[in-house]
Amino acid sequence: MCENPLDKYYNKDYPIQYQKEPGLESAMNPTPDAGERDYQGTNQLKNKKALITGGDSGIGRATAIAFAREGADVAINYLPEEQSDAEDVQKYIEDAGQKSVLIPGDLKSEDFNKQLVETAYNQLGGLDVLALIAGKQQAEEDITNLSTTQIFETFETNVYSIFWTTKAALKYLKPGASIITTTSIQAYQPSPFLLDYATTKGAILTLTKALSGQLAKQGIRVNTVAPGPIWTPLQVTGAQPQKNIPHFGQKAPLKRAGQPVELAPVYVFLASDKASYVTGQSYGVTGGDFTN
Ligand code: NAD
Ligand code: MG
Repeated sequence: MCENPLDKYYNKDYPIQYQKEPGLESAMNPTPDAGERDYQGTNQLKNKKALITGGDSGIGRATAIAFAREGADVAINYLPEEQSDAEDVQKYIEDAGQKSVLIPGDLKSEDFNKQLVETAYNQLGGLDVLALIAGKQQAEEDITNLSTTQIFETFETNVYSIFWTTKAALKYLKPGASIITTTSIQAYQPSPFLLDYATTKGAILTLTKALSGQLAKQGIRVNTVAPGPIWTPLQVTGAQPQKNIPHFGQKAPLKRAGQPVELAPVYVFLASDKASYVTGQSYGVTGGDFTN
């Protein structure tokens, strides 16, 4: 039986809502679907060890749940304020019979990125997959109001942390390892009010291509995922002007926002050995907007 993508997930207006960054998934209405009820694994990541940044909520949470149900042990990073969301994810990882490691901390610090990788490697007993999903997005309509602090923090979180985490992880990654970054439709079709964020997502796309070229000879694959509008805490913590929330995602050709669970199969594929001939690529999951 086929499922109609237009109404497979929530496709009505969203209630206006605001939380302070980084926000909690548990406080959203409606709660995003990160696959808690329905994602079924088929051992695609059996015996792999994965570190996922932003693993408490949204796309990272869906990836963490899917990776565990596919047989991977999973370490997640998140900010200390997100502990309760992270503990929910821990429960899902353990219910899947896999090892979970919670590593709170701020990716804007180079030192923390090093500690994060060391802790993940030591606690998991290895490292095969880096799913770098954490991100910062704050809307600002006018460049003259864009603070230097926001510019720095958006670049540190979204771009610098990828350099720092990858540098720290390379001594542990073996042939067959997979690095997955997270770009955006914004790298291809930037919204004027996301000037700094869209620029970081363009940088991530280019970084991913260039890094894939460096690491191919070591048998390490590097790819990126480009989500469109997805219903996650990011969106209700200042990433969108409030007026955009009710109709969020409805301009996409599929006429609704995506749910985090709809991203998980792509992260799973890119992490898996089935993607053995896939590197340097960007995979769009956008509801139909073009990523080229
Ligand atoms: P989310 O709020 O659930 O996830 C973002 C996570 O980033 C947070 O949970 C937080 O743990 C982490 N984070 C932010 N700043 C951090 C810091 N300084 N240190 C450590 N962790 C930090 O939202 P999401 O939408 O699932 O976002 C995941 C990724 O997807 C981001 O890279 C985002 O840019 C990207 N993305 C999202 C959309 C969308 O519509 N939701 C679209 C395109 C791309
Ligand atoms: Mg979160």
